[in-house]
Amino acid sequence: MCAIVGVFGSVNASRIAYYSLFAMQHRGQEATGISCSDGHKISKVKKKGLVTEVFDEEALNHLKGDMAIGHNRYSTAGSKSVIDAQPIYANYKLGEISVAHNGNLINGKEVKDMLIDEGAIFQSDMDTENIIHLIARSHKEHLKDRIIEALGVIKGAYCLVIQGRNKIFAIRDKYGVRPFSLGQLEDGGYIVSSETCAFDLVGAKFIRDVRPGEMIIFDKSKEKYESIQLFEPEPRICAFEYIYFARPDSVIDGKSVYAVRQEMGKAMAKQDPIDADLVIPVPDSGVSAALGYAKQSGIPFEMGIVRNHYVGRTFIEPTQAKRDMKVKLKLSPISSLLKGKRIVVIDDSLVRGTTAKRIINILKDAGASEVHMCITSPTIKHPCRYGIDTPSYDELISANMSIEEIRDYIGADSLSFLSINALKKSIGDDREYSLVSFDGNYFIN
Ligand code: AMP
Repeated sequence: MCAIVGVFGSVNASRIAYYSLFAMQHRGQEATGISCSDGHKISKVKKKGLVTEVFDEEALNHLKGDMAIGHNRYSTAGSKSVIDAQPIYANYKLGEISVAHNGNLINGKEVKDMLIDEGAIFQSDMDTENIIHLIARSHKEHLKDRIIEALGVIKGAYCLVIQGRNKIFAIRDKYGVRPFSLGQLEDGGYIVSSETCAFDLVGAKFIRDVRPGEMIIFDKSKEKYESIQLFEPEPRICAFEYIYFARPDSVIDGKSVYAVRQEMGKAMAKQDPIDADLVIPVPDSGVSAALGYAKQSGIPFEMGIVRNHYVGRTFIEPTQAKRDMKVKLKLSPISSLLKGKRIVVIDDSLVRGTTAKRIINILKDAGASEVHMCITSPTIKHPCRYGIDTPSYDELISANMSIEEIRDYIGADSLSFLSINALKKSIGDDREYSLVSFDGNYFIN
């Protein structure tokens, strides 16, 4: 999970990083941090909490310089101290360094064990710390070569921003699993960020996506950024970014998330037509797809459920009891609209089944005569190991029950999932995607 940003050559670097992280708050709400360099010294602020809670005027004034990197951390159950916040900073032979990472390394444990065996002392539980250790222990003369050496050791899904005193390196793994885009700021500086919605907020112009396998180097002593293709690209963009994770106003690798979600809704309506009176979304995650479904089917769209925006995403709560309560706090029905109606309710995904069960309960309590649940993604049968926080096999409802059993459990009159083929078509079947949660094809070995 997580969001990363890098800002280079801008007098407002820390503020641009701040606004970018604010735009990408949905990618991580547990902790946030920025480190900023003025060419001599790196200053940093990182804490648990939301972007607006962590950074005030004083914090932003403390972050001096025209080169900044930043990170929002996503919550996973259990742990979490500020030690696990990013960017991770260290002082090593070549000076100061700061690293922020979005994604997940699949050989994190092996590399960590090897480093500990050789005497390394770890400060955090994050696989990202491996990267700093590998860079620090390299015997290469230049930071660039040390990074390249470290990238030869780590395996997995990663987008990285690495900051030295005078440079920022932006790197995307060869599969391009997580999104990463490059833009130009109004004052001539550059920005890289996990999602393009950050560009819109800070007035940056989209240049292009960082290519899978590419390293972009921003260097004070050079006019323009330098691009090195480190690895042969084998693009496998994460389908879940389009389904759920990214903001609908972002464009990932040339495709608008909003448009793709509408396509998924349309495809659902074609795949499983239902005779109903209303189409309603589970807000906010099902809205774009429900609009697509309504357009395709001709069934009227209504916002039949209202969302309380002061409650965060339901996954943030680590226990099932707390998650149940949170869904209740978050969503409530407009009864006058639903009474006696046959409803198609659209959500983007079904993970544990908590949301769907509660929603159907709410809709039936509000007087709906039929509730048909349409999920605009395939059944999630496998945990993602590449950076999306899906739980283990025993918590994934589709890994343990048939569709009919799930339908019965959530109390729906019918239940449909988008097929993998229809999903691929909706995003664009001109390329490959990371579909591990659906097909269990763990392609990074
Ligand atoms: P569940 O209630 O466990 O079935 O989860 C499904 C709901 O959680 C849907 O409304 C999704 O929009 C949302 N969701 C799916 N994947 C994630 C994720 N990785 N993190 C947070 N929310 C998610």
